[in-house]
Parts: sequence; structure tokens; C-alpha cells
Amino acid sequence: MSERCCPACRADTVALADWPFGGLGESVFNYVAAFRHCTQCGLVYVANIDDARLARFYHEECAYHTSAHFAVDRPENIAKARRYLDFIAKLRPGFTEVTDIGCGRGGFLRLARRSHPGVRVLGIDIAPGDPEARAEAVMFAAATSAVLPLANDSQSLLTCFHVLEHLRVLDSTLEELARVLQPGGLLVIEVPDAERYAETPIGPAYWLAIREHVQHITPCALTLALARHGLHVEHLERGVLPTPEFRYASLLLAARKAEAGEDAVKPGRCVGCVDYLQASARALECQAEWVAALRARHGGLTFWGCSAELLSLLPRLDTDVDRLCDANPLKQRQGYRGRVVYAPELLAPRGALVIAPYLYAVEIRRAAVALGWRPEQIFELGAVDTPMMDVATPASIECE
Ligand SMILES: [Zn+2]
Repeated sequence: MSERCCPACRADTVALADWPFGGLGESVFNYVAAFRHCTQCGLVYVANIDDARLARFYHEECAYHTSAHFAVDRPENIAKARRYLDFIAKLRPGFTEVTDIGCGRGGFLRLARRSHPGVRVLGIDIAPGDPEARAEAVMFAAATSAVLPLANDSQSLLTCFHVLEHLRVLDSTLEELARVLQPGGLLVIEVPDAERYAETPIGPAYWLAIREHVQHITPCALTLALARHGLHVEHLERGVLPTPEFRYASLLLAARKAEAGEDAVKPGRCVGCVDYLQASARALECQAEWVAALRARHGGLTFWGCSAELLSLLPRLDTDVDRLCDANPLKQRQGYRGRVVYAPELLAPRGALVIAPYLYAVEIRRAAVALGWRPEQIFELGAVDTPMMDVATPASIECE
């Protein structure tokens, strides 16, 4: 497939930005991502990565199955799963089965079992599910979304939450979902709503710094991609959903497998997220300038927390004299491009300390003070003033 061909609607796309990412150890993300934009459906995507490379990340690097962010018992994650169930129950009251593609630890399925005890639930993911969910009669199968271990026309209800933005090729998964769905069956999808990233600010360039999000999906893009596989949007909701650390703009939709016919719901005007991406790139340049000024003032910097935010910034810094530290022993073992990632307690406080992650700054600050860093030495990357705050509603483009 050509890198220039839109993964959602197949239109020809335009180059948008080259984005240098970094990664720890042998990370697949030590590269310059080529972002492209589809002017027909508004999709922004990374063209120069493939799903085999991304699969290496999920098998070897990512911490989804241990990260507190995805903990099944967190009230925010339960609230989100309940939102999915309410959405489904409204469209298919009395549903008797559900198969969740990309089920992660199985939190949604566990709640489905508890709320609807007779419902048969199956979770499919490349990694095995959570033992606690398994104990509650949630069945799991290991597979990729592009090759499902399910018969043709066998499923009446499929769910696919936070999967599509992680796939470089959408067609093979959508074709597979359409294959296993019964005629009239329902596919429920949720992705971050790329057109509304700016509505719930988390920190400068946050969404673009998530290196494994290779698709930034608009309602228009998703509707067109589904329609090409005989999946017609029946209901679409653009809301705000919680996570343990932040709230985000969500795009939740249901599509029905049908032979032909118009989409029941039109996505409306398509605005895309080009302005957000460009503001994000400028924000990182601002952060790089701020780092240089801070280094000049304090004589040396220590970065605490090798998070995605820092791994988008480090390749843009023009020096490697700063010290890196992280409390995670795995990250300490990996290092960054030949540089040591220290355990924080091994570094004597000197110069200035920069807290890199946007989300855990309070906890890191507390730990740093306990190690002897003085409050006036401590700075937060997420608090740097950048043009992200000025992202306006992007100029509209028509979705045809
Ligand atoms: Zn497109």
C-alpha cells in the first residue's frame, strides 16, 4: 500500500510534518515519523511505520498490562466501561453475547458479565487477559485483529475500544471485523476524537507525543473507512470520558453490517486536527528553547521521568549533557541512545531538575524533595508556556 494513500478513505494525502521521536533501549520508535494528512476525510496518520514494527512495541516495550492507567478496578475505568455498556444497551437491549477485540486486561468484559450475568463474553488480544477477569468467566483468545479466530458471520456484537488508532493498516482489521459479524450485527468502536484534542488540554503536544498512536481519527475518516467494508454507522456520540489521570474527548460509534445503503448518521463537517498537530510541533520547539535557557541559567539539568513527552522532546535538544533518571528499573536497564538512565536516588541534587511527565508531577516533586532537591531547583515541563493554549477551531473542510 502506498504511503500516500489515506488509510481511511483511500484518497491521495499530503505530507504534514516530520516528527523526530526517541525511544529507550532498542525501541522501535527511534525514528522520524512522517505525518501525513488527508484533505478529504481529515485523517492525520504516520505513514512510515508498519504493523509488524508496532507489534514489536506491544510485545517488547509497552506496559499496558501493568500500568496503573489501565487498572481494571480504578473507578474511572469502570465508569468508562459502564458508558460503553449503556451505549450498547440502548442500541441492542437484551444482547446475549459480546466479543471484545483488543480487550486488554478484560475490564469491559468483566463489567459486562457482572451487569448482564447471562451474556457470553469473549476477549481477543495479542496478549493474554487478566487472571482476575478469567476467574469471572471471561474467556480469552490470543490473536491479532487482522486474523481473528472466529467463523464467518458468527458474531452479533463486536466491540473494539482504543484499537484502531494503534494500527497502521485499518483495512485488514475492518475487513476481518466485517467478515465475522453477522448480517445486521453491530460493531461498536471508540477512539480518541482527534478533532477535539484541544478541548481537554493535558499538556503541550500530549496527543501527538503518544508514539504508538499512528492514526488521529476523525468521525468523517472512520465513517468512510467503515462504509468501504459494508459497515454503516447507526449511531455516533462525541463525548468526554474519564481515565484515572485525565478526561479526554471521545468518539464512540456503532456500525451495522449491511449489504448496501446509506450511512444512517452523517459525520457532519470535517475539521481534522492539522492545527493541533502544528501547534504541538511549535510547543515542542518552545520547550526546547526553554530547556536551553534553563540550562544556561542553572549550569546543568536533570530530567526525571522518561515518559512519552520527554521522548518527543529529547531528539529536538541540541545537547546531550543533561542527566536522565527514572524510578522504573526497566527504563534504567534500557538507557537512551547510549546514555545512562539513572535511578533518581543515585543522583546528587545539582543544577535544575525538570519533571518531564505531565501527569505525575505532584508525586515526582514530592519524591524529589525527599531526595534533597530544593523547591527552587524544580521545574515542570508540562507548565512551560507554549502556543498549545491558543489552538483555535481548525478551518473546516467538507467531507463528501
Ligand atoms: Zn481520507
